[in-house]
Amino acid sequence: MQLILFGPPGVGKGTQAKLLSMTMSIPHISTGDLLREAVTAETELGKKAKAVMSSGQLVSDDIMIEIIRSVLGSEKCSQGFILDGFPRTVPQAEALTNVMNELHKSLDAVIDMKIDEQIVIDRLSRRLSCRSCGRIYNLSVDQLVDSNRCPNCNGELVHRNDDTPETVRKRLHIYTLSTEPVREFYRAKGLIKTVDASGTVEQVNKDICNALGTPA
Ligand code: AMP
Repeated sequence: MQLILFGPPGVGKGTQAKLLSMTMSIPHISTGDLLREAVTAETELGKKAKAVMSSGQLVSDDIMIEIIRSVLGSEKCSQGFILDGFPRTVPQAEALTNVMNELHKSLDAVIDMKIDEQIVIDRLSRRLSCRSCGRIYNLSVDQLVDSNRCPNCNGELVHRNDDTPETVRKRLHIYTLSTEPVREFYRAKGLIKTVDASGTVEQVNKDICNALGTPA
């Protein structure tokens, strides 16, 4: 299955993509994670992306399209994939159509995850992620014995440096301006399936699987 999880920062795309990736045995492709790995490894890409990301802006379409072209063409995506964080602009969506055509593949669905903006701001201010395994936690929901250590792998739990209230507001503004038009792009293709993302992780996972007609 070739799937896109679509929605604002903090809606839970990463959390849901990880669950779907396990049940469907297809890779979770997060462009944000790929960029953060490049920043940590201090590659040329990482050096270019670092300041842009920490200010809450978008990395250029050219760079993002090249990343996606190379990942989707790789062996690990041959049986399908779940995209999280891409496409974020209409030119990226158009480029994805071209890449999929070149690969003789087509998208199955775009899950449009809906949520109230205030819930997003709240969630992001309490979000922690593990430096080692990438699991995401929320201090309001998850009972952590030690808020510095991952219960899964004992890795270090950190707040993302773009989750500050000011940067979150900027990311939401950019989402409205540049990313929301992508929904209409896919609606016109009949691919949008809307899911209420304000419930628990389990409920949202169930609703996504129902929308896709796959077992949870
Ligand atoms: P995310 O983890 O998806 O919230 O992404 C974190 C940051 O990475 C974003 O705020 C952007 O700066 C950058 N980024 C991730 N995906 C894209 C994309 N498709 N287009 C442009 N910038 C991106």
